[in-house]
Amino acid sequence: MIEREQLEMDVVFVGAGPANLAAALHLKNQIKIHNELVERGQHPGRIIDDLEIGIIEKGSAVGAHILSGAVVDPVALRELMPDFLEQGCPVDSVVTEDAFWYLTETKKIKSPITPPPLKNHGKYIASLSRICEWLGEKCEEAGINIFPEFPGAEMIYDENERVIGVRTGDKGIDKEGKPKPNFEPGVDLLAKVTVLGEGSRGSLTKQLMQRLNLHEDKEPQVFSIGVKELWEVPAGNIDEGFVIHTLGFPSDAQTYGGGWIYGMKDNIVSIGYVTGLDYVDPLIDPHAEFQKFKTHPDVAAILQGGKMIKYGAKAINAGGYYTMPKLFADGVLLVGDSASFLNGQRIKGIHTAMKSGMLAAETIVTAFDHNDFTTKILKNYDEKVNGSWIYDELFAVRNFHASFQRGRWSALVNGGLQFLTGGLAWGFMPKEHHVAGHERMDTLVNFEYKDEGDSQRYANLKFDKQLTFDKITDVFHAGVSHDEDQPSHLHILDTEICATTCAEEYGNPCQRFCPAAVYEMEENATTGRREIKVNFSNCVHCKTCDIADPYQIINWVTPEGGGGPNYKGM
Ligand SMILES: Cc1cc2nc3c(=O)[nH]c(=O)nc-3n(C[C@H](O)[C@H](O)[C@H](O)COP(=O)(O)OP(=O)(O)OC[C@H]3O[C@@H](n4cnc5c(N)ncnc54)[C@H](O)[C@@H]3O)c2cc1C
Repeated sequence: MIEREQLEMDVVFVGAGPANLAAALHLKNQIKIHNELVERGQHPGRIIDDLEIGIIEKGSAVGAHILSGAVVDPVALRELMPDFLEQGCPVDSVVTEDAFWYLTETKKIKSPITPPPLKNHGKYIASLSRICEWLGEKCEEAGINIFPEFPGAEMIYDENERVIGVRTGDKGIDKEGKPKPNFEPGVDLLAKVTVLGEGSRGSLTKQLMQRLNLHEDKEPQVFSIGVKELWEVPAGNIDEGFVIHTLGFPSDAQTYGGGWIYGMKDNIVSIGYVTGLDYVDPLIDPHAEFQKFKTHPDVAAILQGGKMIKYGAKAINAGGYYTMPKLFADGVLLVGDSASFLNGQRIKGIHTAMKSGMLAAETIVTAFDHNDFTTKILKNYDEKVNGSWIYDELFAVRNFHASFQRGRWSALVNGGLQFLTGGLAWGFMPKEHHVAGHERMDTLVNFEYKDEGDSQRYANLKFDKQLTFDKITDVFHAGVSHDEDQPSHLHILDTEICATTCAEEYGNPCQRFCPAAVYEMEENATTGRREIKVNFSNCVHCKTCDIADPYQIINWVTPEGGGGPNYKGM
């Protein structure tokens, strides 16, 4: 039996992303305001003593695991800190021009108007990792404790299934599961309220939702994966502040997908491609889709003569309003992407993540005021969300992603109608609304490859290491590091399925959907059979395997703290 230190805190935030950093800072500000009102007799409540607030983060530093585009809608940032620019918020550029391109294999059709949801004029292009680093500093200045290299590994419940905190991961366990000389057991962080802001497909959020059935009567969460590179290009290739979104090549008409190209300061370009993780063709490889995207003549022209400097990949919540779980339970709140707060039509979740965190913070103030941390008070969070601009924004696009389940063309018609009507779904929406992505993947036999070329979709894709890169080269540019002498954090619940059924039915799609070459089928020298090999140290923590595996037998859990990518500046 391992003896664990217990640390009593008031509020613990799991994950130092925009949702939780905004939440923690807003909590501090709101307590101060609350106490001032009570002192002046303008509020009937009681003084809330200085709270012990902690944020735990699995990355080596705040921002190390943060990957985004990013065009930031500053609406929530402005509510949190009206003078965010004066306070040094590290935005990169102001968006000066928008474009929307429809790409065929060799041509681009520039839309005469940018679809309103993709208009970003006046918003900010930024490295979200840098913004989080800066928000982290603001939190520390406000007296909030931040613990990097501390992954939340397990939720702690009391005998009534009330969440009472979180257990952090052990350090110093070898790959056989035995303690090494540097073994340090994880700590039990006990809290009156725990806030989960783990981002897309949070590992604790997944456990919690299953255990407390938070998805009852909700539609399943659906996801995309964004694969991104940062490039330095010659001056003149793209203007700073120019934002391009694309549809079409290389995605086929059944697959949800699109690209982005953002011109940043100092000739830096953020470029990436989003592929829906509800694709049907089991041969799709989102990393290869992105590499193919860059070979389009108009895209390649922007990168011409440039150099790739960073790489990353991460899952994105795509389903929105109908796929949001119940946001609260006794002792716990869900914020940001963990709770599917992203607006899929705008591909924006930073502002909604921050606002959800701020509304969670206001609910926590009420909970301390009443000294009640049960659902009786925490349910106010749900009411606050539904009474805020988050509801107006997400409800209006509630049918957006589902309409793609019948392919791009029906989605475009539907999308236009939804825009005009405030989100109403039309008769030609799919009968089943959101369907979990892994259920949509077809088997190799069932999928209708129209011709041989179809099943060879990447046959012409060569990794020339100038414009296009193989996964291993890209992973090197993600700065990934994991101590190899630790148990794999990618648990395959039944490897027999990989070697048999999955190989036959889907051709082991994990080899393709993982953007970091983690999964490989390797011949076993003794049996001659091809078996799964997991190169967990390559993992960029995108969570795609946990989401897309058709048998749902891959369980992503947190590795030893500090391991993973280094997205600083991404
Ligand atoms: C490729 C890509 C492009 C995007 N582009 C845009 C854009 O242009 N504009 C926009 O508004 N939005 C964009 N988004 C969405 C946006 O980035 C997210 O909506 C937003 O970051 C969500 O914030 P969050 O705080 O909920 O989660 P995250 O930003 O994902 O942060 C979660 C944090 O929690 C940590 N964490 C997770 N689990 C644990 C654990 N168990 N223990 C400890 N720490 C943990 C993670 O390491 C991470 O630091 C994009 C997303 C992607 C992936």
